[in-house]
Amino acid sequence: MVDRADLVIRNALLRGREGQVSVVVDHGRIVALSDTPVAGEIEVDAGGCLVTESFVDAHLHLDKVHTRDRIGDIAANAYTAAGMGGAMTAIELAADVKSDYSQEDVYRNARRALLDGVRHGVLHVQAFADVDPTIGLNGVRALMRLRAELGDLIDVRVVAFPQDGLLRRPGTEALVEQAVSEGADTVGGIPWIELTDADAAEHTRLMCELAARAGCGVAMLVDDAGDPTLRTTEMLAVELHRLGLTGRGVACHARAMSLWPEPYFRRIVELSRRCGLGFVADPHTGPLHLRAFDLIDAGIPVALGQDDIADAYYPFGRHNMLEVAFLAAHLMEARDDRGLDRLYDMVTVLAAQVLGLDDHRLVVGAPANLVVLRAASVRDALAGHEPPRFVVSRGRIVARAD
Ligand SMILES: [Zn+2]
Repeated sequence: MVDRADLVIRNALLRGREGQVSVVVDHGRIVALSDTPVAGEIEVDAGGCLVTESFVDAHLHLDKVHTRDRIGDIAANAYTAAGMGGAMTAIELAADVKSDYSQEDVYRNARRALLDGVRHGVLHVQAFADVDPTIGLNGVRALMRLRAELGDLIDVRVVAFPQDGLLRRPGTEALVEQAVSEGADTVGGIPWIELTDADAAEHTRLMCELAARAGCGVAMLVDDAGDPTLRTTEMLAVELHRLGLTGRGVACHARAMSLWPEPYFRRIVELSRRCGLGFVADPHTGPLHLRAFDLIDAGIPVALGQDDIADAYYPFGRHNMLEVAFLAAHLMEARDDRGLDRLYDMVTVLAAQVLGLDDHRLVVGAPANLVVLRAASVRDALAGHEPPRFVVSRGRIVARAD
């Protein structure tokens, strides 16, 4: 134990632990959870409120945030209409926004969303940027610039994402490869957007093989339409297993899962377990959502993602994961404390697990990425979904709202 720590958070209530403690932070890490007073260079009084791990946003289209005024309502209406039967049309309509959207535009709007996230205690983001012959690498390069510029505050993982397809948009595959060679963290994919199952399988294979060659992970949007015959989650799980990419894959959306017959759902559970696939749900941005609680019960990690902020698909969003969880509580019928606790896990520790952040826990020795809330229970935290009183990134207070 240090004599005088860098930061001490007194009177902290921790989830799953009786009584109040001092969270002692030094050199960016949690060094003690102490029942007795410890002196700190900086001392903060949590006042008996919850202190937890900071929030993780496992899926955000960061290159599209705050573009709603450019595109209007037309794509969002198409995405949700007819039981998500028009999801593909929506993506085609939304692509129009990119024709005159510069790297500077992406940078400015994405920066605003990241700083909003920090204010709300979001310190890790898996950020998708479209890559295609229209926008080229403008989105990826803008996000990589922000990754470097804001790296002391927030961990941004950039996904090079072929939103409009690979086989449908010749030239895109080479651009994704170039994005990865320039430093994108993760290979993206959206196999269900292709026109045949064979092309969807080829899309999945190409992107997973690129990830294997580059030594990085894969994050794909799978089965994101109201079509129970969609099978791209399966394709992803099969490729990850074949290439030995165990624990390196993330499946986003997978809304068609809610329409699958039970025997097929159970096969997907087994395939996901075999390759360590994690999922991200975003029930507030579409009328269907994946079976998050059933997957969690089966031992498969599931996160909630912000997905969209004021873009073609969704008119709201403040990069507030408590707000996302609050909305999910309604849409996923989570009303008891157990359900609410799970939602909280889905924006903190389970989301970290989905992204492979093994040390994102409020335990001694872990990095001090923390939020000091205004509430003394998870239920009250979700009910208010207010910004944390303090946000601590790597041991340093980076936002305060008192
Ligand atoms: Zn999405």
